[in-house]
Amino acid sequence: MTDCLFCKIAEKKIPAKIVYEDKDVFAFEDINPQAPVHILICPRRHFDSLHHATPEDQEVLGKLAMVAAKIAKERNLTGYRTVVNTGSEAGQTVFHLHMHLLGGRTFHWPPG
Ligand code: AMP
Ligand code: ZN
Repeated sequence: MTDCLFCKIAEKKIPAKIVYEDKDVFAFEDINPQAPVHILICPRRHFDSLHHATPEDQEVLGKLAMVAAKIAKERNLTGYRTVVNTGSEAGQTVFHLHMHLLGGRTFHWPPG
């Protein structure tokens, strides 16, 4: 998608600290971290949110979680939170699906 911030990050048209990439997925440091580790993991194929996912996105959705666990292990995190905000009511502000990986501090439940 031409006018999507995260597509531009994937294409390296906008700078970001990319920490992982393969043919399906890319991951980079959140610009406004909410925890000592805060990484965003995205599918390369643009879709707006979980609400817009189609059966062809099923495999990559699983891959996002596997990449989150891989990055968490590399950083010696034993407890961490993965979050997918869907829709503005849930706090989604960038409409290219992404999974947040947050770690390095204690989290509370229920989330705000
Ligand atoms: P969400 O609110 O779930 O849509 O998450 C969007 C996230 O993208 C927020 O945590 C922002 O801090 C982050 N973000 C926005 N712009 C950038 C950027 N240019 N580089 C890295 N992270 C960004
Ligand atoms: Zn996009």
